[in-house]
Amino acid sequence: MLNNVSIKSLLAASLCAMGLSFQALAADVAIVIHGGAGTILKKNMTPEREKAYVEKLTEAVKKGYALLQSGVDGETAVVETIQVLEQSPLFNAGIGAVYTFDGEHELDASMMHGGTLNAGAVAGVKTIASPIAAAQAVMEHSPHVMLSGEGAEEFALSRGMEPVDNHIFDTERRYKALEKARERILKAGIAYGGQQGNERIGTVGAVVIDKQGNLVAGTSTGGMTAKRYGRIGDSPVIGAGTWADNSSCAVSATGHGEYFIRYHVAADICSRMKYTGVSLDEAANTVINDVLVEAGGDGGIIAIDHDGNIAAVFNSAGMYRAQIDTDGKVKVGIYKDWIE
Ligand code: ASP
Repeated sequence: MLNNVSIKSLLAASLCAMGLSFQALAADVAIVIHGGAGTILKKNMTPEREKAYVEKLTEAVKKGYALLQSGVDGETAVVETIQVLEQSPLFNAGIGAVYTFDGEHELDASMMHGGTLNAGAVAGVKTIASPIAAAQAVMEHSPHVMLSGEGAEEFALSRGMEPVDNHIFDTERRYKALEKARERILKAGIAYGGQQGNERIGTVGAVVIDKQGNLVAGTSTGGMTAKRYGRIGDSPVIGAGTWADNSSCAVSATGHGEYFIRYHVAADICSRMKYTGVSLDEAANTVINDVLVEAGGDGGIIAIDHDGNIAAVFNSAGMYRAQIDTDGKVKVGIYKDWIE
């Protein structure tokens, strides 16, 4: 039986043969989001906490989907969806972000548009309430791709984003995690918390295909607990934590950033699709479950391809995630299996 996506593909091929563009007719939208991957085990979860995650993920994914259906562009849908998660203390982004070794929050975010291949990112910012909105501003209103620290904050101010006190991102749960990580670091003499379990989980991301058929991806994070020396992870690095290209796919990643940077994870998945012709699912599984596992990097990705197929793949115990596909079917997951 033909599903929506194969009907779209057939239609696209016929229109192309007639010399017409499919984009003008495309209407099916889809969205997938994540709220971080890692050692998320049911035995460590209370029913209340699980419910809170499911509700917040559902709220965010439904908001993004409704925006896409109303015809807004993918950039707006990605930013507004991620903002729901940045404003929730459940996630390691915005409020609820992890602490640096010195007890502050340094936030990273990025976004990319698969139609124009434009991209924007901010790294190590302390006073921007919504790093994903700042990343969008860099993409749309600056000639640059990545701005860091005070320069990024100055740019955000010039775009009308009022600075906030770094303490607005504070939460007790993340402070306790910092104390634990600091103790480990001081004992072991390592640069920062090393392989982290529950301490860093909660980076957020969104990937969409909008009514124009454009793929857009965005990611926002506080990074790793007890990070030092101005450490920047993969989340603001285009190609590592975020990637979008209408000719293949769009990806937002979460996991141990150093591995995602070195293995160029987000772009590698789309390149494998583009140059070897494998499906999104196969490309994502190879990179996350073969390449990264062999390297020792834990984490996962969410992705959508140019036909609207969705992938949510992770090599850790769990990944907070939710999606609404081109048929409007909603799925939410935390552990290996979807909750639905
Ligand atoms: N990738 C993020 C970083 O390394 C952390 C995470 O996604 O959990 O900064």
